[in-house]
Amino acid sequence: MTQSIDLSFLVRPHILNLKPYGSARDEYEGTEGIFLDANENPFGSAGNDFYNRYPDPYQSQLKEKIAQIKGVPSQQLFLGNGSDEAIDLLMRIFCEPKEHNLVIMPPTYGMYEVSANIQAIEIRKASLTPDFEIDLPEIWKNIDNKTRLIFVCSPNNPTGNNLDRKKILELIKNFDGIVIVDEAYIDFSQEESFVKLLDQYPNLVVLQTLSKAWGLAGLRIGLAFAQNPIIKLLNKIKSPYNISSLSQEVALKNLDENKKNSMVEQLTEQRIFLEKELAKLPTVRKIYPSNANFLLVKMDNAHQIYQKLIQKLIIVRDRSSVRLCEDCLRISVGTPQENVFLLEALQNSY
Ligand code: PMP
Repeated sequence: MTQSIDLSFLVRPHILNLKPYGSARDEYEGTEGIFLDANENPFGSAGNDFYNRYPDPYQSQLKEKIAQIKGVPSQQLFLGNGSDEAIDLLMRIFCEPKEHNLVIMPPTYGMYEVSANIQAIEIRKASLTPDFEIDLPEIWKNIDNKTRLIFVCSPNNPTGNNLDRKKILELIKNFDGIVIVDEAYIDFSQEESFVKLLDQYPNLVVLQTLSKAWGLAGLRIGLAFAQNPIIKLLNKIKSPYNISSLSQEVALKNLDENKKNSMVEQLTEQRIFLEKELAKLPTVRKIYPSNANFLLVKMDNAHQIYQKLIQKLIIVRDRSSVRLCEDCLRISVGTPQENVFLLEALQNSY
């Protein structure tokens, strides 16, 4: 059964009442005709490329295709300039600066905190447990009647693990605000996506991206799934042409699920290989279980090793100063050849 939500208590009143910008492509949606409505250059461009026209503001074709792949109606899908855009817009919809707060669970993806800081939204940190699991009592302790959003990242970045599904569900069911489940790495996980539960939970937003498994980070296309009232609000406040024509075209050409799945399979095999080989190195103290395309590795002298790798032009992410990730490097899984180079470099780094 589809449940709906009365958003009027949660959405910032001026956003509810906002009259959105009406772009030329909003006002006339046809594709045929003489277009003299958007102050574009009718000739084309210097390189004879035809990007002189503004893109479809709602990316209908691309959205249709993604919705079909994901098995959701396109009315439950918003496309952003990366999922980073959706993170930012959700805060702008629901959180009044200096009044409302949101909950994150560090160590986690850094942009939740940065976006909140940009908008002067108070951040409440309910740390994950030392084995990187959700600490429900800690979360409930941090929530009050000014809490609007909870960010849950699963599989989590930088730790790589799936967070406990039952605990996430408990949050969705019992929190009076919006729960955002960031599934940027879901394609690498065996866990089922929360997208399947959208109809049951009007306060659920699921984020995914074309930047990871789909191999399209350069296009900047992020996906937000939710029931239509939240999608409408995202569309209402986004900038009019948030995804370029070029990105939309290239994405459409690259949405081949079989190819994506075979890359995921290869990356997963390589992750298992890396895990096995890294475990043989004497400096490595712990490799955290990963359901993503990266590994969090605790090692002696992590920071020095990071610098030695840089000297060899191998760049990993130094997380050694992050709480609960002390002495840890986050290593993305590369091609088979890149992984061998990494292992050789690590063997020669101490
Ligand atoms: N969420 C998580 C957990 C991420 O790790 C990242 C990127 N590193 C993002 C969101 C942002 O992805 P996008 O490229 O879609 O903006």
